[in-house]
Amino acid sequence: MTRLLAPPPGWTVSADVVVVGSGVAGLTAALHATRAGSVLLVTKVLVDDGSTRWAQGGVAAALAADDSPEDHLQDTLVAGVGLCDVAAVRVLCTEGPARLRELVELGAAFDRDGAGAFALTREGGHSRDRIVHAGGDATGAEVQRALVAAVRAHPGIRLVEHALVLDLLTDADGRAAGVTLHVLGEGSQDGVGAALARAVVLATGGLGQVYASTTNPSVSTGDGVALALRAGAEVTDLEFVQFHPTSLWLGAGSAGQQPLVSEAVRGEGAFLVDLAGERVITPGDHPLADLAPRDVVAKAIHRRMLERGDDQWTSYVDDGKNAGTTDAALSADPPTTGSGRRPGVAVRARGAHEPESPARIRIIGGGPTNDVPDSYQRRLSHLLGVLAAPEGQEWWLAAGVKELQVAYYFERATPRVRTRLHRNVLAAGIERNGPGLNHVPDPATIADRDVENLVSAVRKRTGLGPHPLLPG
Ligand SMILES: Cc1cc2nc3c(=O)[nH]c(=O)nc-3n(C[C@H](O)[C@H](O)[C@H](O)COP(=O)(O)OP(=O)(O)OC[C@H]3O[C@@H](n4cnc5c(N)ncnc54)[C@H](O)[C@@H]3O)c2cc1C
Repeated sequence: MTRLLAPPPGWTVSADVVVVGSGVAGLTAALHATRAGSVLLVTKVLVDDGSTRWAQGGVAAALAADDSPEDHLQDTLVAGVGLCDVAAVRVLCTEGPARLRELVELGAAFDRDGAGAFALTREGGHSRDRIVHAGGDATGAEVQRALVAAVRAHPGIRLVEHALVLDLLTDADGRAAGVTLHVLGEGSQDGVGAALARAVVLATGGLGQVYASTTNPSVSTGDGVALALRAGAEVTDLEFVQFHPTSLWLGAGSAGQQPLVSEAVRGEGAFLVDLAGERVITPGDHPLADLAPRDVVAKAIHRRMLERGDDQWTSYVDDGKNAGTTDAALSADPPTTGSGRRPGVAVRARGAHEPESPARIRIIGGGPTNDVPDSYQRRLSHLLGVLAAPEGQEWWLAAGVKELQVAYYFERATPRVRTRLHRNVLAAGIERNGPGLNHVPDPATIADRDVENLVSAVRKRTGLGPHPLLPG
């Protein structure tokens, strides 16, 4: 392989710490690094050209009175289907609320409810409302604004834009000792130079631009990973790239950054249909249907496109009651990159043709696990979908249940079904010995029994008559 070589550095600067990248990671690292001495913060183009400014939906943190870092941890582990680094997730969930409050102290203005508390919404995989947002769906822009203001105001940080970092410099022991960089138009430091430092922080963001289609901005080219590898660093977990299920299809030949269609649209009640108008993912496929974890939804879309031979993304249909909200969410997308033109979005609202559903039935948790037979999981998903069907809504409402939350766990030796009614939220848990199901002749019948027991437990607790669709 031929490697392009830059000319030798023509100038040198020094700082105690060099931070590369000015997204949420680099800006935060720079502010904290001031405790170690002088900080040089360098960034490839303009200070806010990274992914951070584009983040829409919000930041997840366990802040609600009925939420806890432990619940957040459990939801994350379920969505992570056994692949999570539990210690790292624990730090994220436990420290999240404090980090969020630090952003508030720096001046980030998150949306509040009438009582002045954080206005929280829900996104895929979460069993609680725990998404903090700003300006509706402009969360990243607000976080970036507040952090940039704090960095610019800090006397210990020097910020240099248009500074493309090329390589790490290492000392005789192979430890990072600075970077080489190409600066455009910074007075005497124009051209290729060297920034020497006791410590280097690489915060260069993602690598979405290596894919044919991405929602990442043009700076997301994986430079930090590449230059760390060239310097002999070990990198891990590169296979964990998030494929957001929904971006806006701008027509054949559109290249570069594509506008993201926020999950909040589905959170508000919209669902995905293919070009024939068929739903792409139903409660029978996954208990959370359109709000299943993103990898599940992305794979369902991909499968459907392959089956049908479509080259377009599926479109959205709103359930009628949220048509206004959905329109607003889509039209709030920033103009498309480059051309500055807004995409033409067709949100089809069925309005009065669809029955309005007053109750919210949510089925949470219980992602696929390798230990549990497929036949059990498929049947359970199907039955939980039936439980959430519109035909059963009157039944729930008769018991004053506005929200049903079902979670299932596969780690318990003795099976049981638990229910807990708090105000108008009914939480139910199905617990089983997952691996033990592999020794049962017909695991699907066990799923029938579990859901029967669940319906029966709900009836005992609420005094309801039979469910219209399910025994128990
Ligand atoms: C459309 C979209 C929506 C999103 N929505 C959400 C959301 O709702 N919630 C959420 O939690 N996350 C969301 N994300 C993800 C989130 O934005 C990112 O995970 C986060 O912003 C990454 O921050 P970062 O600081 O690591 O990287 P970035 O913000 O990308 O910053 C990387 C920085 O490194 C610089 N850089 C790169 N290479 C070099 C180089 N060679 N030399 C110098 N500088 C370099 C870049 O210019 C940039 O300043 C979204 C992302 C996108 C694209």
